[in-house]
Amino acid sequence: MGFFTALLSTTIGQLVTALVIGGIALLLTSRFWGGRRPDDIAIRGRLQDTTAGSIDGSTPANKHPQPDEDVESFTKPVSVNYHFTRKCNKVCGFCFHTEKTSHVASEDDMKRGLKLLKDAGMIKVNFAGGELFLYPSKLAMLCEYCKVDLGLESVSIISNGTKITEKWLQNHGKYVDVLGVSCDSFDEDTNIQIGRGTGENVTQLFRIRGWCRNLGIKFKLNTVVCSFNWEDRTAETIEQLDPFRWKCFQVLEVQDENDASTTDTDLDKRKRNAKRFVITDEQFQSFCQQHQHLPCFVPESNELMASSYLILDEYLCFLDKGHGREKQSSSILKVGVAAALKEVHWDQEAFLSRGGVYDWSKDMASTGACGEGLGKDLAW
Ligand code: SF4
Repeated sequence: MGFFTALLSTTIGQLVTALVIGGIALLLTSRFWGGRRPDDIAIRGRLQDTTAGSIDGSTPANKHPQPDEDVESFTKPVSVNYHFTRKCNKVCGFCFHTEKTSHVASEDDMKRGLKLLKDAGMIKVNFAGGELFLYPSKLAMLCEYCKVDLGLESVSIISNGTKITEKWLQNHGKYVDVLGVSCDSFDEDTNIQIGRGTGENVTQLFRIRGWCRNLGIKFKLNTVVCSFNWEDRTAETIEQLDPFRWKCFQVLEVQDENDASTTDTDLDKRKRNAKRFVITDEQFQSFCQQHQHLPCFVPESNELMASSYLILDEYLCFLDKGHGREKQSSSILKVGVAAALKEVHWDQEAFLSRGGVYDWSKDMASTGACGEGLGKDLAW
């Protein structure tokens, strides 16, 4: 008994010592991180890092001759949204990237632009439109180029979902980390009123979710909260869909994109007038309160959206949609990334604070964040 008592007191003594040392280490570590998420720390480091590796991995990127001579003095375009087309098969009344031109850059120019961005620090690209699946071969080429040739950490796509096929995903899904689909309501009539509806958006959404799950692609959902859907209560269906992120944007008015007069929209069907879709901040908050318990829920107010996205348009110019009239920089093909970036405002702090850095590669694709995974009845 005496032996066991001695052993017990020694073990307790060791445990107490370990807890004290562990506590001190934890305290010091948390003071070092300053309360920020490790993701933020890592990305802040990379935003300032000027020695990112080259594409072939042989030489640091800053040893290559670059068009951006002052590459070290600007904020790195870590995550870029490249809208290579404005053409779309839908007519959402609030669309803020409308078909002002039908231009699509040549394959050479697109690749050259993406290479410049990679050399300047891009590690994630998000392809957006318009509707990208109107150009399935171009989209496939771009995804493969970014993943294989440029070796980007993350390649993602945002689509309205109507033209996505299982065959395309089977052939090219290996180059895609995240597939985001826009869906504003689980009521088909509401979708049709908004202009994105086909009458089978929800069926197609579950289909795409199943394909993504089978192919190991992360599935994301985007919803624009507007006057037609702010009172929707959709938590249950979201849990069934189980996206790893559900981004909910407050509808945004952008000068020169969706602020046309009714007369103009009647004359030109490509123009948009978002006025009847606009909601108050309180209405957006009410929607958020109903859904904020979902782990995948990521709300974005107008304020956060306006300048936290780095948007590249079809001419490979940056766009600033956040401050009055939409502003377009010179093309990165002409002046380089650093000079073009200086012509627009990109709020890097807002990018970080909206959670712009997240687990964006496909390694965790088999599970979502909002549910228990697809039930058997939904796995199609
Ligand atoms: S918001 Fe609607 S119209 Fe605009 S690009 Fe997206 S799906 Fe097309």
